[in-house]
Order: sequence, then C-alpha cells, then structure tokens
Amino acid sequence: MSRVKQLLKKTKRTLLTTLRPIAQEYLPPPRGFEPSRWGLKEEGGRLSLEGSSLEELVERWGSPLHVIDAQRLERNAASFLRPPAGRSRACEVFYSYKTNPIPAVLQRLHQLGVGAEVISPYELWLALQQGVPPERIIYNGPASSEAVLREAITRGLALINCNHREDVGRMGRVAEQCQKRPSIGIRVVTKGSWSSQFGIPIEGGAALRTYAEALGSPWLRVKAIHAHLGFAIRTYGQLESFVGEVLAFVDQLHTRLGLELEMLDLGGSLCIPTVQGHDPAEKRLSRALFRGFEPPDADAALSIEAYVAGVLELCEEHFRRRGRPMPRILLEPGRAMTGNTQMLLASVLNLNGTPGEGMRYAILDAGQNLAEAARYEYHQVFHVTRQGQPASQTYALAGPICSPGDVIFQAVRLPRLEVGDTLAIMDAGAYFVPFSNAFSYPRPAIVMVDGGRDVLVRRAETFEDMVMRDRMPGSKASSATG
Ligand SMILES: *Cc1c(COP(=O)(O)O)cnc(C)c1O
Repeated sequence: MSRVKQLLKKTKRTLLTTLRPIAQEYLPPPRGFEPSRWGLKEEGGRLSLEGSSLEELVERWGSPLHVIDAQRLERNAASFLRPPAGRSRACEVFYSYKTNPIPAVLQRLHQLGVGAEVISPYELWLALQQGVPPERIIYNGPASSEAVLREAITRGLALINCNHREDVGRMGRVAEQCQKRPSIGIRVVTKGSWSSQFGIPIEGGAALRTYAEALGSPWLRVKAIHAHLGFAIRTYGQLESFVGEVLAFVDQLHTRLGLELEMLDLGGSLCIPTVQGHDPAEKRLSRALFRGFEPPDADAALSIEAYVAGVLELCEEHFRRRGRPMPRILLEPGRAMTGNTQMLLASVLNLNGTPGEGMRYAILDAGQNLAEAARYEYHQVFHVTRQGQPASQTYALAGPICSPGDVIFQAVRLPRLEVGDTLAIMDAGAYFVPFSNAFSYPRPAIVMVDGGRDVLVRRAETFEDMVMRDRMPGSKASSATG
C-alpha cells in the first residue's frame, strides 16, 4: 500500500473513532414503531399476541420461531377483496405463492376467496394439491418449459402469461398438441418496471408486436395484459403513473389491433408500510457511525384499501371516458398481503465486544440464513420481555453462520441484552421463509396464532431431514432414505 493510502486509511479510522461517540451522544437515535402497530400487547415489558406471550411461544416451540398472526392475515385478505366504499365491484385477488409459500397460510387465503399466482411447476403443483380450482390460478414467470405449459393448458388455468416473445410460439405449439385454446396474457414492461429478464417493453414497440403475433395464432385466446412493477408502490402518485402507462398501452392495443381485453392483471408490488429498502447513503452513514436506520413513514404509505380503491377508480374512469367495457381487474399481491402478518423470534446466543468501545455484537440463532431481507430493508426489532426499557445500547445483530457477511442489523438500539433474551423481527411474512436456507443449521418451526390458540403449522427441520435424500453407505443415517 502506498504511504498516501496508508495515511488516508489511518485518518479515516481516527476520524470515525472520534465521531462515533459524539454521534451516539448527540444525534437522537431513530424512534422505531410501537408494538401496538402489530396488535402486540405489552405488560410489564412482556409482549404478547392475542394473549399468547411471545416468550412462552419460544419456550414451547423452540427458537428461532416464525409466528403467524392469522387474524391480521384475514384482515389483509378482506381489505384486498372488499369492494371499496361506493363501488359495486371489487378486484380479483391472486396471492403470489413465492412470497411466503407456507401451506397453512395459503389454505387460509384460499378459504377467504383468494386465488393463486404461481411461477414454477412446483408452485402450480402446490396450488392444485391445495384444491385451488384451475380457474383460480394464474401462471407467470420467466421460465416456462413446454412441460409446465402443457400442464397449465390441459388444466385450463384462469390465465397464463407469456413473459418472452418466444413464449407465444411455444404456447401456440403446445396448445395445438393439447387441442385446447388457453386464455393468455402478455407481460409488458412499463418505464418504471423491472425489465431485465422480465417481460416485454412497451417502449420501442416490442410489446405491441408480440400481441400482434399472439393474435395471429388460432390456438391462443389473447385476453389479458400483465404488468408487475417490481419496485414497491408507496404512494398514490407511483400507482397512478404505473396504471396510467398500462392503460395507455391498452388503448394502443385497441386502436392498433382492435383488441378488447377481458382482464387487466396489475401484478403485485404494493409496499408493506413499515418496511422500506435502505437508502444507500443512510446505509453508509449507519455503518460509519454505528447508527440505526430511520423507520419509514408508515402513515404516509398507501394502505391496501387506498390501493384497491385507487386501482378501481383509475380503471373505471379510463374506460368510462372512452365508452369501452371495463375489463376484470386482477391483482397479485405478495408482500402487502402477508408481510406484516408474521414475525421471526430469535434468541441471543452470545455477546461479543465491550460496551463503551462502540459496537457490541449480539449473536442470534437467526441470521442471513433466515432473515436475509433484514440486511437491505427496514425491519422493526422488539425485545420480547423488556419492551419499553430504555434502549441504551447499540448492537450489531449477527447470525450464527461463520461468515462475516452474517450481520442482519448493522446497528440497532435495544435495552441491554443478556444471553438467552429473545427478540422479535417484525414483518417476516414476505421473502423470509422462501429465501431461508439450511446453511449449518436446520430451519425453524412455524406456528400460527389464531383466536388465542397457537398451532404448529410446520415443525422444525431435524438433522435427519437435512440428510434425508443422501445415500451414506455404512452409516446409520443411511436408513433415513426410506
Ligand atoms: C413477486 C411477484 C408478485 C408479488 O410481488 P410483491 O412485490 O411481493 O407484491 C406478483 N406478481 C409477480 C409476477 C411476481 O413476480
């Protein structure tokens, strides 16, 4: 290393060591959310959900533990399904399976009238296995093999969306082989959407050409448009510009190709109000100064009700003005449906570092193996038995994996921790369970709290489960292959 670089590095270190205590003392720590936002009750610092003490849940079922709030799940589903005040129609809702594919959750949603949005052969199998009628299933995804298309077409799904131009030809061929005419849509990309491997851009005319091609196939019923923004929608303005762009393209399809669509599938992407991706600048500041993240402005975020009302109003207004029939409106919520209906309880296994030297590490039994999302977005953390005590200490929350990357919270203010304490990581109902892995540790149990009862809906993975598919000649465990 050159001398200049050495000097710069040393200066930076000295500067940060000086700045950190000053920042800790003079910058007020960010104020997090209150437990009541999730319906959690606090008594003597102990948190409970519908009468179930979180501490006792962990004692009964083990740590780490996922806890599902069934009542909140029902409320979210009802908010999506209910026609907004003053409107006669509602949206049709298809839950994005990939977001939190826990059969007990899916079943509950289906009982309430929510359909399934699936993106893989496994998810399609799971939906059918759960008894979801094919006309309540949408098939999406960037990777549709002929085999899965054949399954989707023969079953007669509500809608199969083409993600690429090649999908159209492939779908037509498979449909002809099956002698069935599937209802299809085409996934288009708006200016603000994820593009990359997903969908066909409106801009430049590729989407229009793909529609023309699909309309030329005698085997395809072109009935829908599919658009999924990908980035979280937090404001009415974001919703309006996304829906507006889709509707403008729907007009183009009408004038250029004479196409009158029956279904408008607007995908997912509605935010969880209490979760927001970290701002890169704030992330750097947090790392430099050991400072926690500011919570997002949850009260300013679009609620489920406001989102549904907004979608219907924008669409009704659009078609009314043009004197054209209003298509069915399909939604595919993921995070907004289940995100805030689940929490991950994790316990402190070890503490490292000396108080006063800046950062203490609390090593939990859950890290990036179970809570990867907490590394890049805001998630509220509560101490389940000392809620309300002064958050006097800054901790980095690390996981149990032997990797320096396994820090899920860079800096979070909490009451002084002791080994054995339990923390609740909130909003764990979206992209926690499906992204979790068995890196060095088996995956945890999942319980559902419902009407004051807690029911185990997925038992914890065992060591035997982890080697179940392996052949281990000569070892006792090889009998586990049966
Ligand atoms: C992931 C996904 C969803 C759900 O997205 P959220 O942002 O979690 O609401 C819906 N539709 C499609 C096509 C998806 O890929």
